[in-house]
Amino acid sequence: MEKRILLMATMNLHKFEEVQHILTQSPSGELFTLKNLRDTGFSGDIPEEEDTLEGNASAKSWFVYRMTGMDCFSDDTGLEVEALGGAPGVHSARFAGEEAIAANNIRKLLQMLEGKENRKARFRTVVSLILEGREHLFEGIVEGEILAAPEGTRGFGYDPVFRPKGYDQSFGNLPPEEKNRISHRYEAIWRMVEFLPR
Ligand code: IMP
Repeated sequence: MEKRILLMATMNLHKFEEVQHILTQSPSGELFTLKNLRDTGFSGDIPEEEDTLEGNASAKSWFVYRMTGMDCFSDDTGLEVEALGGAPGVHSARFAGEEAIAANNIRKLLQMLEGKENRKARFRTVVSLILEGREHLFEGIVEGEILAAPEGTRGFGYDPVFRPKGYDQSFGNLPPEEKNRISHRYEAIWRMVEFLPR
């Protein structure tokens, strides 16, 4: 039987490979071939201008659907810190400015949390899937807390200052397989993959 094509709305090959790995472990893995935007020849920017993770994920997948007409999905992730009312949230990538690097975002976060007892935080991923012209949303969450100072050099983004609940190490110290197994992104993508027709 011919495989169905599912397009991931990303130019990021690292993310793409992570999702491909999850799909091959699922019962739908045999039925779908995963492609990314590079495979379609797309080379521009996808707009990310909404003020919620849901809004951004949805806008990205509809943008790609309108452009290609293909079954597709996109994801959007943010770090939500309780004492900051859910910030940086949808602004996580550019928390310390348009061109901010991770170290600057982390510095700003730690400064804003100085003197605060409540260090509770979570990573939240929202996936928007468009299948045969209909949208379905999936969510993945990992709860944890923000450390007083960065620990570890693994991962990316806020990983060195985020310690998942039940662990005594930051994401910046955990081996990648271990992080992926419990991560927000893994959970959201797994829920989507479980939803796909078999
Ligand atoms: P994106 O929607 O996956 O591009 O994520 C937006 C921003 O959230 C990234 O630029 C990072 O700052 C942060 N982020 C997302 N996922 C993670 C993660 O797994 N670890 C640490 N930071 C993350």
